Amino acid sequence: MATAPTFSVTTPIFYVNDAPHIGHAYTEVAADVLARWNRQCGVETWSLTGTDEHGQKILRTAVANDVTPKEWADKLVADAWIPLLETIDIANDDFIRTTEERHESVVQAFLQKLYDDDFIYFGEYEGYYCVGCEEYKQPDDLAQGTGEFEGQYVCPIHGRPVEVLKEANYFFRMSAFGDRLLELYETQPDFIQPDSLRNEIVSFVRRGLDDLSISRQSFDWGVRVPWDEKHVFYVWFDALINYISALGWRADQPGELFQRFWPSNHIVGKDIARFHAVIWPAMLMAAGLPTPRRVFGHGWLLVGGEKMSKSKLTGIAPAQITDVFGSDAFRYYFLRAISFGQDGSFSWEDLAARYQAELANGFGNLASRVVAMIGRYCDGRVPAAGDLDEADARIQQVVELAVERASAAMDRFAIHEAITAIWTIVDELNGYLTEQEPWKVAKDESKVERLHTILATAAEGLRALSVLLAPVMPKSTAQLWTALGADAAIGPLAEQRIDHVASWGQLPAGADVSTLPPLFPRIEADQLG
Ligand SMILES: [Zn+2]
Repeated sequence: MATAPTFSVTTPIFYVNDAPHIGHAYTEVAADVLARWNRQCGVETWSLTGTDEHGQKILRTAVANDVTPKEWADKLVADAWIPLLETIDIANDDFIRTTEERHESVVQAFLQKLYDDDFIYFGEYEGYYCVGCEEYKQPDDLAQGTGEFEGQYVCPIHGRPVEVLKEANYFFRMSAFGDRLLELYETQPDFIQPDSLRNEIVSFVRRGLDDLSISRQSFDWGVRVPWDEKHVFYVWFDALINYISALGWRADQPGELFQRFWPSNHIVGKDIARFHAVIWPAMLMAAGLPTPRRVFGHGWLLVGGEKMSKSKLTGIAPAQITDVFGSDAFRYYFLRAISFGQDGSFSWEDLAARYQAELANGFGNLASRVVAMIGRYCDGRVPAAGDLDEADARIQQVVELAVERASAAMDRFAIHEAITAIWTIVDELNGYLTEQEPWKVAKDESKVERLHTILATAAEGLRALSVLLAPVMPKSTAQLWTALGADAAIGPLAEQRIDHVASWGQLPAGADVSTLPPLFPRIEADQLG
C-alpha cells in the first residue's frame, strides 16, 4: 500500500534563558511557512518547536532568582516563549520542553540503547570549555583575546575567555561514524543545505571526528544517566533527542507519530548546523534509526552590521515590530527581504519602505480597489465573466506559472524565491487594472459585459493570491478571503489547496463581496519611535 506523503519540520528548541529576539522569530516563521505551505498542498504535515531547559546556566540563574530551575523554566516558557509564538502567528503542532517526562524518558532510553550497544564508554577529558556555549571548544575554534583578555583564548561567539576543564565523563564513539556521515552527504546531496554550509561540514568531517563527551558530574540540572546516577547528560545530547521524543519514539515501540513523520526537516541557524548535521545523524546511526530528511542552516540577521544574538545588545523583541506593522508584515518582510540561507541585514528603514511599497501600495491597494469596484459597479456580487480576451487569459497564465515556480522553490526551501514568484501576480494584476481601466469601462452601459469580465478576472486573481499568500500572511489573506465572499461560497481559506489554485473560475458569480478595511494601514512616522 502506498503511504500518503508527509512533511515534518522542526525549529531548534530555544534556550529558555534567552530573551526572544527577531533571530528566534525568523527561524520560527520560516518553519511555519514551510509547514503551512505543505499542509495547503494536501501533504499531511507536522511542525515542532519547543524549549531547551537544562544546563548549568539555567541552574545558576534559577538559584540567583531564588526559585527551583523547573519553576524558573516554567515562568520563562509562560512569559516569553509561548507569547512569542502568538506574536508572530505560529501554527505549530507540538511544543516540547526538555524537562517534560515524555522527553526525559526517551533521552534515557535512547542513550541506554547506545550504552548497551557499546557506543558509549567512560573516559577522561580535558579541554577548553565555554560556559556560554556549554561546549568544549577545539583550539582551532578559539580566538586570541584582546584588551582585558590579552593572552587568553576566548570563545569567538561570546567574546569571553574559555575555561580549562578536566572531567571523567561518558563518551560517545562519534569518531566511528565519519565514513558513514560522508556517505550520507554523498548519497543525499540535499541533506545539508545551502551548498556553502554543506561544503563546510563535509570538510569538517573529512578532517576526522573526535569522540564526544556526553555527560557531566559538575552540576545536576539535566537528565540523569540511567546506568550512573552521578552523571547528567550534556545539554546538546539531551536537546537533540527532542526531535524524536516529541514524536513519541520508544526503544521498544517506534510509535505511530514517529512512523508517520520521521525523518523530519530541521531548520536551524547555521551556527548550530554542525550539531544537527554531524552529531545528530551519528547518534541516530548508532541507534539504528533513519537520519533526518534535511538540515537547512539559515543565515544570520545583521543589525547595524552585527549578528543578532543573545550576547550582543542588538536584540530586538519581535513585538517591537509587530506592534507597529503587524505579524503578517513581520513574516513577509523577513522571508522576502532576505534570501533564505544567506545572512541578511535588518533595518527599520528597509522594513518601513517595503511595507509601504509592497504591502500597502502593492498588494493592499490592489485588494481594496477590486473589492470596492465590485461593491460599486456590481452591487457587491462577484460578476459573471463573459468571453476572455488575451489580457484576461494572461492573468490565468501568470497564476499558473507562479504556482509552478513557487512550488519548486518551496521544495528547495527557497522561501524568498517562492514569494517573489507569487508577487508576479500582484504586479500583473495591478498592470491589468491600469491597462483595462474598469472605472472608465463602467461609464459606458454598452460595455457592461466587458466590465464584468475584468472584475471577475481580477477577483479570481485575488482568490489565487489569497490562497498562495496564506502560508506567509495568514491574517490579511483571511480578511481578503472573507471580503471576496469566498468563505461562504468556497470554504475556509486554510483548507484551500495550492495545487488546485490555478484552475480558473472557482469564485462563483454572485458571491457576496463585503467591504474591506485597509489590509496594511498607513504607518505614521511617530509610530516608529
Ligand atoms: Zn561561547
